Amino acid sequence: MKCPFCHNRESKVIDSRDLREGESIRRRRECLKCGHRFTTYERVEPINVLVIKKDGNREEYSREKLSRGVLTAFTKRPTQAAQIKQLIDEVEAEIFQNGELEILSRRIGELVMNKLQAADPVAYIRFASVYREFADLDVMRNEMDKLVNQEREKREKQHIHAALQEGISP
Ligand SMILES: [Zn+2]
Repeated sequence: MKCPFCHNRESKVIDSRDLREGESIRRRRECLKCGHRFTTYERVEPINVLVIKKDGNREEYSREKLSRGVLTAFTKRPTQAAQIKQLIDEVEAEIFQNGELEILSRRIGELVMNKLQAADPVAYIRFASVYREFADLDVMRNEMDKLVNQEREKREKQHIHAALQEGISP
């Protein structure tokens, strides 16, 4: 960092402080040659990941777009907004964690589906039906069968439970 007074390149940092929750750092420096003090700012450059779409076109990653897809999958589901936000945060962290500048849209879809599968089977199937490729239709049908069976078992259990409470054997 050049001294603005004498253009000497050597200075020492005499004070350093985080601004805006660590998004940038302000440093007070003292020129080692002329002794003048000056201030520098350092900030993290935001990374823009490019998403490679199915047709090969690239577009900037958008959290808003990711959120829209996930929120649509959770329409009328009992999942809390805070949980959905956390799920989106986790997917986003995985998109950015390896520092790659490009990611396949398909890969993002897989990251979301992994999370949804654990969080809510209905949201998972809704999302998968939009994002999965044609070749994966069998996988989707298996998932739906599983879900239908789960629901049926749940209903049967409730039915048996209700019948027992009324003192009638099922
Ligand atoms: Zn200087």
